[in-house]
Order: sequence, then C-alpha cells, then structure tokens
Amino acid sequence: MPFLLRNLTLNPGVEESALRPLAAAKLGVRESEITALALVRKGVDARKKGAIKLVYTVRVTLGDESRVRPCGDLTRVEAEEPRRFPKLASPERIVIVGMGPAGLFVALRLAEYGLTARVLERGRDVDRRASDVARFWRLGELCEQSNVQFGEGGAGTFSDGKLTTRVKDPNCGWVLERLVDFGAPAEILYAAKPHIGTDRLRAVVRGIRERLIEAGFRIGFESRLTGIGIAKGGVKSVVVNDTDEEPCDSLVLAPGHSARDTYALLNELGVTLEQKPFAVGLRVEHPQALINEIQYGRNAHPSLPPAEYAQTYNNEVTGRSAYSFCMCPGGVVVAAASEAGQVVVNGMSGYRRNGPYANSALVATVGPADFTGNSPLAGVEFQRELERRAFVAGGKGYRAPAQSLLDFIGRGGGRILSSYRPGVTEYDLASLLPAPVAATLREGIEHFDRKMRGFISAEATLTAVETRTSAPLRIVRGADLQSLSHRGLYPTGEGAGYAGGIMSAALDGIRVADAIAARIAAS
Ligand code: FAD
Repeated sequence: MPFLLRNLTLNPGVEESALRPLAAAKLGVRESEITALALVRKGVDARKKGAIKLVYTVRVTLGDESRVRPCGDLTRVEAEEPRRFPKLASPERIVIVGMGPAGLFVALRLAEYGLTARVLERGRDVDRRASDVARFWRLGELCEQSNVQFGEGGAGTFSDGKLTTRVKDPNCGWVLERLVDFGAPAEILYAAKPHIGTDRLRAVVRGIRERLIEAGFRIGFESRLTGIGIAKGGVKSVVVNDTDEEPCDSLVLAPGHSARDTYALLNELGVTLEQKPFAVGLRVEHPQALINEIQYGRNAHPSLPPAEYAQTYNNEVTGRSAYSFCMCPGGVVVAAASEAGQVVVNGMSGYRRNGPYANSALVATVGPADFTGNSPLAGVEFQRELERRAFVAGGKGYRAPAQSLLDFIGRGGGRILSSYRPGVTEYDLASLLPAPVAATLREGIEHFDRKMRGFISAEATLTAVETRTSAPLRIVRGADLQSLSHRGLYPTGEGAGYAGGIMSAALDGIRVADAIAARIAAS
C-alpha cells in the first residue's frame, strides 16, 4: 500500500526529480527502493516573500516496505479502484438543456450508466461560436444566441478555466479525470489551484461532444428550449425554437445564469422560483508584473507561476461585502454581453497565462432589498438596468465605460490601460452603480491595499459593469432534485442557483444524473 508524504518543499526552479531523495529520506530508505512516486498536490507557499517555496504532497510506492525507517508518522493510502456503474436500460425520454459544465457532466455521467438523452443547446458549436465571439470583440456585432454566455461549452468556455471550488464532493476527482481524458493538462489532477485556460478548454469541449455522440446522445445546436408541455403537474414535452414539440419524461434544465428568456418561460408556467442574492461591480486590471511583485516580492524566481490574489472585505455596519472574484492572471477583460444594447465585462486567460495584464472582478453583494418589486425576476431586471446604463455610458457601441482606479476612489490621476475590446470610454463609474455598491467597492479597494500594498496604483484601471457573477434567482428543487412544483423537471448548475463556477456546476450535474439513474434503477 503506497505512502502519502506531505509538506515536501523545493525552491522555485529546482527540478521535481529532487523530490525522490527527499521522499527517500522521509521514509528512511535508499532512493533506489522507490518504485513509483506520483504528485498528489502542488502549491506555492508565498507567505515569506524572500523565501517562497513549492510545497508538494506525493504518493510513494516501495519495492520492499519492510525496510522503512520513517522519520515521523506516516500515512498509508489505498490504491483507488476505478468506479464501476451499473448498466441501466430504460425507455425514459431524457432531454438536457444546455451544454455548459452542468449539462455536459449530466450527459457524461448518464453515459456511464448506459443511458442517453437528447441535448438542446441554443448556441453554436465551439468553433463557430469562437468566430461569433471574435467578430463581436473586433467589430461590436453581437450575436444574441452565440456569444460568451451561450454556445457549446457554456459560459466558462471563454474563461481562465479555473477549477477551484470550495465544494467538498467525492466526485471532484472524477470530474478532473474526465477533463484530462478529453485533453485538459494532467497537472489539474494535483495542482492546488488548477486551471485549464480558454485555449485548451475548447478542445476539451469538442472531445466531450464526440464521446457523447459515440454513446448515442442526440445533440442539437441552435436548438433553444422555448416551451415545456405540462400534464398533471409533470413535464410531458419540450418545444424547440417555437416550432418542434418532442415528448419528454425527464427535463434536465442546465441553462446557466444568463438564460433570461428561459427564466421568464418558467415564471409564466408557474415553476417555483425565488429571488436570491448575488454580486455586481467592476473589473479591475493591473499589470501582471505589479501583481507578481506584490505577491512574491522583488527578484522572485522567474519560474514561479503568474501570481494570483483573492481578497474580501466586510462592512459590519451595512452588512455588505466586497470581494475580488474570478481573477485571471495574464489574461484579458472580455465583452460578455448576451443581449443587445447592454455591456457586461468578465475575464479570461490562456493556459499559459502569459499576457501582460492581471484582471479580476471587484464586486459587492446585492440582494432582494436592492431590487424593485417581489417578482422572482426582479434580480434579472436589476442586472439588465445596470448593463443598459453601461452600454449608454460606453457610447452605445459595446465599448465599456472605464476609469482609473485612483479616480474612482477620489484620489485623482492614474492612467486608463485596458485589454477590453472593442475598446473603452472614460466615465465616472460610481455614477453607474447603486450608491451603496460604489461605496462598498471604494472601502473594499482601500482594505485590499492594506493587505496587498500597491493594489491602489496609478496603473490600475476599472471597467464596467460586472453583473453575471451568479444566478439572480433560484429554480427551487426538493430533496429528490426535482422542481418543487413540477415533477420530471431537474434544475441544475449555476442557472438553477445551486452552483457557482465550472467545478461546482459539473458536480451538481453529476448529482442530478445520479438521482435520475437511482430512480430508474429503483423502478
Ligand atoms: P453555463 O455554462 O452558463 O451553460 C448553460 C448553457 O445553456 C449555455 O451553453 C447556454 O447557451 C445554454 N442555454 C441557455 N438557455 C438555453 C435554452 N433555453 N435552450 C437551450 N440551451 C440553452 N467559472 C470558474 O469556475 N472558473 C473560471 O475561470 C470562470 N471564468 C469565467 C469567465 C467568463 C467570461 C464567464 C462568463 C464565466 C466564468 N466562470 C468561471 C463561470 C462559469 O463559466 C459558470 O459558473 C459555469 O459555466 C456554469 O455552468 P452551467 O453549466 O451551470 O451553465
């Protein structure tokens, strides 16, 4: 049975082969007695700026374990057997709406059980989608069905592909292994902060589609769910593109947080929805070299990865928080609107994260008390209003309103340097935001600078408006993961309000697929 060795440290730039002698010393054996050494976790410890270390956990197998003379306590790990799934045969007609991480992982998991489904995706396949997005960024011509939010791969396709999640779920490893099967870098299996990058994510998405087609899934692009047939409180059919009606027994709804027309449809049908808090604000950009210097100190080893940060601030009087979110080292700020006449910003990076800028969302919490009215769609209207204002402020051509960070916090000065395309227009950003949001962001920025000296910089630029942080409502479901109001309707992923981010959306999709499989197995 292999040994698990934690806290082996190397200096940046030292070859990982140096872990073998370290592991041998910890076990009290000769290096030649190690038959296998595998990385389980790799992180950067940058707490001491002058003495940054790479910290590893490794799994070590020995030829002869009787020779171990350990230095300290040792942990043993059982070799994991690949999970086996019972094969199910069922005439049940399953329809999955959405090919983001949630919908794709519902499908991949159903395939393990030998089940198939019809998959509806309103947007285009990832290659045609990439052309639509490039045209939008170059010329400001938005395609409302094929953009950064909509299309094969879902909202995270034009992202940094960060896979960190706070969710503790036994299926995390299963998700990462499947991503590696389809072309993600193998290091995501052990990196403390794994990421794929938009470039490699697109190939992964293509690979998943091919696997699903092989497994018998019927995939339809440019196929928007526009209606749901209901009988006796349960789903009986789906309507596609307002014309084609197909029978359906289980409808898995994984439409993401930007499917506003789908939310409106659910509301009209009387599906149980509720308002939920989310966050809005700005995107901040700094030179990556400045963030590296703040996080690693001067003269850090060049082999260290581009530095990241995550900061939070809580105003205990107002109860409102500000936080950084979805930080993209070496990335760009992207135009992420999905409706005409609105400006939305977000961020993405390539796998190598080697661009000159670092960007991050800088957002403050908002909730039902900030919205107008009691409709479950009030949060959507709140987002839309901010996005329309940003469109007008940017000059009505999808340019983003922008301001130097120094100007925003009232110190004056600073330069506007932004990677956002099709371009930016200088604007007083506080005037776009609800006053409590702007005030909390200003306090947050001052607080972040106390934690990260240099965050307030003449080289930092803000763009507006960051609104698509998580779902503005929840499609309420019960313990069996079906809608509280409609049998056979399985809301899942970020759009349903049960996930936030690529990993947690995928994990939620798996939960739904397992629930459907368990029900079929029991019937
Ligand atoms: P989505 O990915 O939004 O997928 C929903 C899919 O459903 C879409 O493809 C949409 O076209 C389709 N759809 C919607 N309505 C319909 C309909 N009526 N009929 C048919 N199809 C429909 N998260 C991270 O964890 N790490 C990151 O680095 C990261 N960066 C991001 C960068 C950007 C620019 C964006 C926009 C998001 C980023 N996110 C990131 C968030 C992440 O992308 C989402 O949390 C995740 O994609 C949610 O997965 P999902 O499957 O629930 O929904």
